[in-house]
Amino acid sequence: MSQIHFQQGPIRPPSEADSLLIRTTQGCPWNKCKFCTLFEGMAFSIRPVEDIKRDIWAAKAFYKNRTFDSCFLQDGDSFAMETQDLLDVLNTLKEAFPELKQISSYGRAQTMTKKSPAEMKAIYDAGLNMLYCGMESGSIEVLKLMKKGITPKSILKSAEYAKQAGMKMMTFIILGLGGKELSEQHIAGTAKLLNQINPDEIRILSLAVKSGTELDEIVQNGQFTPLTEREMLEEQYQLISKLDGMTGNYGNYHGINVLTELNGQLPKDKETFLRTIDHFLQMSESDQNNFILGRRTHYYATLSDMRNQLMYDSVQRELDRIQQQKLGDIDDIFYQLRQRMI
Ligand code: SF4
Repeated sequence: MSQIHFQQGPIRPPSEADSLLIRTTQGCPWNKCKFCTLFEGMAFSIRPVEDIKRDIWAAKAFYKNRTFDSCFLQDGDSFAMETQDLLDVLNTLKEAFPELKQISSYGRAQTMTKKSPAEMKAIYDAGLNMLYCGMESGSIEVLKLMKKGITPKSILKSAEYAKQAGMKMMTFIILGLGGKELSEQHIAGTAKLLNQINPDEIRILSLAVKSGTELDEIVQNGQFTPLTEREMLEEQYQLISKLDGMTGNYGNYHGINVLTELNGQLPKDKETFLRTIDHFLQMSESDQNNFILGRRTHYYATLSDMRNQLMYDSVQRELDRIQQQKLGDIDDIFYQLRQRMI
């Protein structure tokens, strides 16, 4: 019996869990961000169009009668393809899976701005209607420090191209990416750029420093001071406060965030978000530590779970044990727990 093969890349956005995955590129065309290990050791390449088209038909044969609402194009940047090749792939995809309502991809600002507005519109018309943008920060200082290889100007231009073409846009922001040194610039620049772009969705992540990265090196040599969990929530409070005129979704879906209940729609839920963060920040330090440890050890999902006395007491016993055994500063322990999550 012959086997059906088609390539699958190593990553996809969490929201694409049920999507058809088709790999157009391998790795990331930049691969230099100081905090990132997603495509470590993988050279970037654009897959030959004929191979991608063969994969599409192999996926069709593999999934037999299964239908898909959405498809995600892997890996790091489908916009690195020649426009005509990308259109060819999208047309084949729609031919094989005519039921698709959404086709999405990561897109780097630097590559998207090389396309003309007319090319972006043609890509949208061929079906690519959703864009994931790893903006991470809107501060030029932070983007430079992290070697992101993009600028607020290029991010804004690419977002304008994408939105003018009709694409929906989900933008990722990383709390703590400026460390203590650039925290203010990080939040001010990010809020300013988000207000200019008004993406359809903002997804919040919290910085965890992976050992062995360039970021880890500058943490070790004292050039970058990571924020504590509390400080990242203070950053988030500032960020939300500064968002103005935003009309999209706002989400803390990733488990690395402490307050995963901060999900909703702007501006409707802005005050609720601020109240929830404020509620956390007004708690005693001991209760804040209890909640953070409870989140990291999977006792709690949201702040309201602290009202469960049984859970609260179990977490408190663990917190007391850590503090009695003097296993280290509690913020350092939270830092290590966060590191283990990536
Ligand atoms: S552009 Fe994205 S995938 Fe590429 S190195 Fe930077 S963070 Fe990683």
